[in-house]
Amino acid sequence: MKKNSSIPAYESAMGRDGLRLTPQRRQVYEVLMDKRDHPTATEVFLRAQKRMPSISLATVYNCLETMVGNGLVKAVHVDRAPTRFCANLREHGHFHCAGCGQISDIEFSDSREQGWTLPAGFLVTQHDVSLRGLCSECATSVKTASAKDSPSKDSKKRPVSQQLQHLKK
Ligand SMILES: [Zn+2]
Ligand SMILES: [Zn+2]
Repeated sequence: MKKNSSIPAYESAMGRDGLRLTPQRRQVYEVLMDKRDHPTATEVFLRAQKRMPSISLATVYNCLETMVGNGLVKAVHVDRAPTRFCANLREHGHFHCAGCGQISDIEFSDSREQGWTLPAGFLVTQHDVSLRGLCSECATSVKTASAKDSPSKDSKKRPVSQQLQHLKK
């Protein structure tokens, strides 16, 4: 993977909107591009601090806020949990795993209208979709666990909603 390959995108976006590429903003943006696991502001701060020990949490908050306002970074809201941040500029949705809490980017296929039943004449201009479920790893461990729980063949056919309830508490 080429390091810093994302920075030209940042610079062009900044140039377009007249937002200066300060060293702090650069660090915050690089943190988000380096590991796309949708970190919280605190996680971004801890990672940025390793590269720039002088950076403060308040500065990280400011940078994130500016970049979200600028459309360069997406704020991802998950229930009552702290906001997470995402630097994927392509239009995408988020998949939230109920097992491990991981948030993954998901791509849309074809047109924005596909897969929805919209009233006649409605036109979608923006997607903000989040899906919940289990990532492949968690889905596999649920299958394994339920196979152990009950030797009956039907256990494999348990609906996902029941598997999720099983996971919750
Ligand atoms: Zn994302
Ligand atoms: Zn998972």
